[in-house]
Amino acid sequence: MTEQTRAGLKELQRLDEEIRAARDFLAGFDPLLAEVEDPALRLEAEVERTRSRLQEMRLEERRLESSTREKRTRIEKLQERLNLVRNVREESAVNTELDMVRSALEADERETLSVLDQIRKFELRLEEETSEWEQARAEVEPKQKELLEKREAARTGLASMESERSAFAASIDPNELRVYDAIHSGGRRKALAVLTEDGACGSCFSMIPLQLQQEIRTGTSLIRCEACGVILAAQSEEEREAEAKADAEAAAKAEADAAAEADAAAEAEAEATGDETGDDTTDGETPEA
Ligand SMILES: [Zn+2]
Repeated sequence: MTEQTRAGLKELQRLDEEIRAARDFLAGFDPLLAEVEDPALRLEAEVERTRSRLQEMRLEERRLESSTREKRTRIEKLQERLNLVRNVREESAVNTELDMVRSALEADERETLSVLDQIRKFELRLEEETSEWEQARAEVEPKQKELLEKREAARTGLASMESERSAFAASIDPNELRVYDAIHSGGRRKALAVLTEDGACGSCFSMIPLQLQQEIRTGTSLIRCEACGVILAAQSEEEREAEAKADAEAAAKAEADAAAEADAAAEAEAEATGDETGDDTTDGETPEA
């Protein structure tokens, strides 16, 4: 009857293992999605870089534009002043300044041309990169959609497993559940192990004292392995049968393997002897050829 309680913990552990596998499966989608998105993301970053470079150049163009405008105004004013000079010294001073401003203006104009040229090149580059990016995105989308749908299905599956688990946990003796959960939250994969046929812990294989083995088998109280701390449960009838069946199958397989090996050895030996006779016949056949 208490075997029923441990059976509950066994079932809970089975559910927890399923949940862990489902979580691992779910986590596996992240790297897959990243891999699919990667080419498009890299192109997007390139587009972003080109776009911001272009923006800087346009700012530079505007700065040069206003600097050019200021210099032109300055030149106009200096030319007006040239009409108002009263002597050669003043005239030469104004001319000197005019020359300086004019050559600065020429430098600005040259720089403007070069910036405009760069802007055209970067506009072309941006266009190319954007179309490459769009193409990559179009290629990525169906794969991404498929992965996202699969991930969503995995999430839904996990959520229903989790709710099944909590419904099931509610049916278990709260004290046993507390012990089980405490072992689990300590980071152990298995909180419960089945006592082996010869009375060892199914997790760490230390021998369990006879007295305790008895208690585990009768299921009177919850017993933990003194060596590793897992809850110990007795083998159920089905588990015993399944294990006996597996053992029998393994034994039968080993026997079959051994027989096959013996056959192969015998065959190899026969072949080796056959080869010798073969050599003889080859010699004998030579005249026929
Ligand atoms: Zn143990």
